[in-house]
Amino acid sequence: MLKDFSFHSPEQKITHPLYISKDIPVWFKRDDMIHPFISGNKWRKLKYNLQKAQQQHQKHLVTFGGAWSNHLIATACAGASFGFSTEAYVRGEAVHNPVLAMCKLFGMKLHFISREDYRNREQLWKTLQANPDICLIDEGGSGIEATWGCKEIVTELTQSYQHIFCAAGTGTTAAGIASALAEIAPATQLHIVPVLKGGDFILEEMKKLHASTTQTVLHTDYHFGGYAKTTPQLLTFVKDFIAQTGIMIEPTYTGKALFALHQMITDNVFQPHERILFVHTGGLTGLLGMLERFED
Ligand SMILES: *Cc1c(COP(=O)(O)O)cnc(C)c1O
Repeated sequence: MLKDFSFHSPEQKITHPLYISKDIPVWFKRDDMIHPFISGNKWRKLKYNLQKAQQQHQKHLVTFGGAWSNHLIATACAGASFGFSTEAYVRGEAVHNPVLAMCKLFGMKLHFISREDYRNREQLWKTLQANPDICLIDEGGSGIEATWGCKEIVTELTQSYQHIFCAAGTGTTAAGIASALAEIAPATQLHIVPVLKGGDFILEEMKKLHASTTQTVLHTDYHFGGYAKTTPQLLTFVKDFIAQTGIMIEPTYTGKALFALHQMITDNVFQPHERILFVHTGGLTGLLGMLERFED
């Protein structure tokens, strides 16, 4: 199904006691259902990189990421699916974990490099770039091709919304969504929830990717201490939401963005009947490193 590059993820209306009590209809764009391993926005971000690599007859995908990266496993599986060999430079000392073990199952070759070498990877990048057989994809799959794929989150929608909510790490997904909204839905507000501390940088990143930010509202107070940090309140929220809806979310990205949405609905920020879309950006393999945090 993935090979023709045309899978549309479902858009589902979700029943939850909060949405009912406040009379706010909430739909989820289920990008988590795109694929179990090439999941969510990581597929969106890879799509046009893969197409370009195919057109240029490149044989190898080389990328970068942290040891729990959703992008690494997506690239590993996409490589195996589309007939590319894959290699990744992993930040930090050599470790074993379920995400990296699955990357290896998909045939990905892993090179662990120190945090310092990882930060200063331009030389390595230049050397790799000189090989015409290699398609280089940066950390998290960022870049202008990635925004083209993310625009399709909006162009695929079957109805219009007053508000769209999405988590942000690098802001690439937000940039794609904002670009599409500027073209086809200028009245829709885009609510972006940075999962890192000091998330104001997201607006700059979006501008670098040629996205207009006039429809964007940043909610920078939902990082819960920083990237991959959690609190008991966030973990309880994630657990309750999963049990109440049957939709799996995780605390690194989707849990924080959805927490922000629920807080705003609770605070009556929206009028009854305003239509809201939450973009489920997937990334559920990230949960594998966090399951023990839910035990108390
Ligand atoms: C990577 C990721 C994000 C962040 O996407 P950016 O384009 O880097 O902002 C959001 N949600 C999930 C589930 C992710 O895996």
